[in-house]
Amino acid sequence: MQEILEGVWWIRRPMVNVYVVQTHEGLWLVDAGTPWDAKALLAALRSLGVERGDLRAILLTHGDFDHVGSAAHLRDTLHAPIWVHPADAEAVAGRAPIRRRVVGGLATRLSIALSSRLVHAPPVEPDRTLADGEVLAEGCLHVIHTPGHTDGHVCFFDERRCLLFGGDVVRTSRRRMYRPPFVLADADAQRQTLRKLATLKFDRAVFGHGPPILNDADHLLRAELTALEP
Ligand SMILES: [Zn+2]
Ligand SMILES: [Zn+2]
Repeated sequence: MQEILEGVWWIRRPMVNVYVVQTHEGLWLVDAGTPWDAKALLAALRSLGVERGDLRAILLTHGDFDHVGSAAHLRDTLHAPIWVHPADAEAVAGRAPIRRRVVGGLATRLSIALSSRLVHAPPVEPDRTLADGEVLAEGCLHVIHTPGHTDGHVCFFDERRCLLFGGDVVRTSRRRMYRPPFVLADADAQRQTLRKLATLKFDRAVFGHGPPILNDADHLLRAELTALEP
């Protein structure tokens, strides 16, 4: 675990990133890793002094298994409520699959169909839903509905830190700052989401996959926007 900005910790797991954010309202977890990350996430949280009842909420950027996987375990252990956008809430609760409409070629399609049959996050009933434009913590953690990768994908915008929690809207890599996600529910919505994010001012951006971008993040996103548009 690494404190990448004051009050923002990056928990880097083999498949996915998880973040802890401190605000005046308390500590929040952004995403909950895969089902195999529960022990490591708990250890990381405990090293920050987090005990039962200390987390304000587990905020889910979306309902994919690599972001929801340990949510049920963390909720039981830490007594932390789970908040997610209504459009992904049924998937988190295990009552519906994540809708995927655009999944590339046959090979990608098959591998996604297979992995979604083999790998499930333990279902968990969300405690509350998130609405576009909602402010969870004053000056930090504004909810932005960013459908495309999934219908209920959201980003969290921390105005005070000039930081975007971008979930799986894009991913980052060392070679290229932004890359499109592998799978989408809705390519048109994704295009609109990228245009919407390009109007925001954020120096820093962190995502579910890939290293954080700690300066000029919005400029880089705008520069790559054409290439990113599906
Ligand atoms: Zn995803
Ligand atoms: Zn992901």
